[in-house]
Formats: sequence, C-alpha cells, structure tokens
Amino acid sequence: MNGPATASLVDSHVHTDDARLEVDRPEVLRAARAANVIAQIVPGISLRLWPRVKTLCADHPDLYPCYGLHPCYTHEHKSGHIEELALWLGREHPVAVGECGLDYQVAGADKALQQHLFSAQLSLAREFDLPIVIHARKAVEDVIRMIRSSGHYRGMVHSYNGSAQQATRLIDLGYKLSFGGAVTYDRARRLRELVAHLPLDALLLETDAPDQPDAQHVRMRNEPAFLVDVWRSVSALRKEDSATVAAATTRNAIELFHLSLATVPQSLATA
Ligand SMILES: [Zn+2]
Repeated sequence: MNGPATASLVDSHVHTDDARLEVDRPEVLRAARAANVIAQIVPGISLRLWPRVKTLCADHPDLYPCYGLHPCYTHEHKSGHIEELALWLGREHPVAVGECGLDYQVAGADKALQQHLFSAQLSLAREFDLPIVIHARKAVEDVIRMIRSSGHYRGMVHSYNGSAQQATRLIDLGYKLSFGGAVTYDRARRLRELVAHLPLDALLLETDAPDQPDAQHVRMRNEPAFLVDVWRSVSALRKEDSATVAAATTRNAIELFHLSLATVPQSLATA
C-alpha cells in the first residue's frame, strides 16, 4: 500500500517487561520510538510480575501498565491474589485490568479455576471502571458468555482468533479486537479475511512481543518496533490507506485505555 513510511501507532498488547527483552531493552525501546510506536500497553500476568511492570512503566511515560492474573499461570495464582489485585487497581491506577481470560489449549487447563479468576476480574474491571484485556484461546464462546453475565462492556480481546460471527458479537458488546503478527502470514486465510472486513473502529494493533513474531521476523524474538509490519499488513488486507488505519487504530487505543495526552500528538488526541 502507498502512504507514509510511518505514522503514529499504539502497540495495544506487548510484554515489554519480559525477561527476553532484558539484555537490550533500551535499544528495543529506542527502535519502537523510532518506528513511531508512541504508546505501549504492558499487561502484568501474575502478582509476582506486577512490580516489574510497575517499575518499567514508571521509568517510561510511553509505557502504560495493566495488572491481571493470566489464565496460563493459574499455578501461580493463590487465593488472596484477587484481593491483592483490587488493592493494586485502587492504588496504582493502571489503564486496564489484565491480562486475564480463558485458555483451554494450555496443558492441564483447569477450566473451573480459570473461569473463577476471569469472572472475578470482570467484576473488578466493572467496579473500578476500567477496560479489561482478554486472552481467549479455544475459549471465545465462554468469554462471550462470561462478558454477558458480568455486565462489563469495555475492553479488548488480544490476538483475536475466533470466528467472524463471534467477532461481531464481541463488537456488539462494546469490545475491540486486537491483531498481531499472525495476520501477516499468507496461510492465516480465515484470520486475514476477518481483518479485511471488520469495522475500523473496532480494530487495534499489537505485537504481543517477545512472542508471536510476524512473517518478516519468523523465529526471531518479537519487538514492539515490528508493529509497523502488522500495520502495513492490516492496511494492505483492508485495501485502505495505511495512514487511515494508523490514525483509527491509534485513536481506538487512546479512547479505550484513556491514555494520557502527554505522550500522544495533539492532533490524534483531539481528533
Ligand atoms: Zn499477552
């Protein structure tokens, strides 16, 4: 697609605190900023790792923290962690609750425990009036059911991989869908078809770095700077001007997470 070489982008889901980025994090952050990734949403996945997210985001005003209990780490979550999460939400003022949700593909998935934790976090998101960042793998139907019964209608499903029909239901519930490296692969035909036709105001872009590298960085460690490839790929699939896709997805993220205007260009913040 034609369009500017780069435009302001938001990485709506990136584990910038991950240990695999430890060795060269300053360079990783510099590369992301050079690629015009103006904000990164960094979800904490377990109580043990929340302080790491907090410290990193405190050091970098373009990194925004979320705190949650991830469904793939149920072995780490103890009774009391939900109460502790409530304290963190009240004290730290993150931009969202998460990462949380349901993962029925993870080995030894304890569905009942995952659902208990997800339900509690939906309640907290509602109580604290925060968006929720949802991980849903082989579990989109239960995620939709639990959103409905929670009555919490503000959030995003990251690395969305459900059906088109489920996407429409999630969007009708007020949720945004986020897409990353997976859409850059030719073989991801169903996902690419979906991304091509979703309403632009429901769309977010992410890297999920250091995981899920795009087709240009196969088997490499993923980085937030590589969001540019996801953006170009999504723009091409939609046959839309890349500047339009950048402006819309950035605005969607700013609105969903209520990002402070200090680090975003005024033109986008007020658009
Ligand atoms: Zn994640």
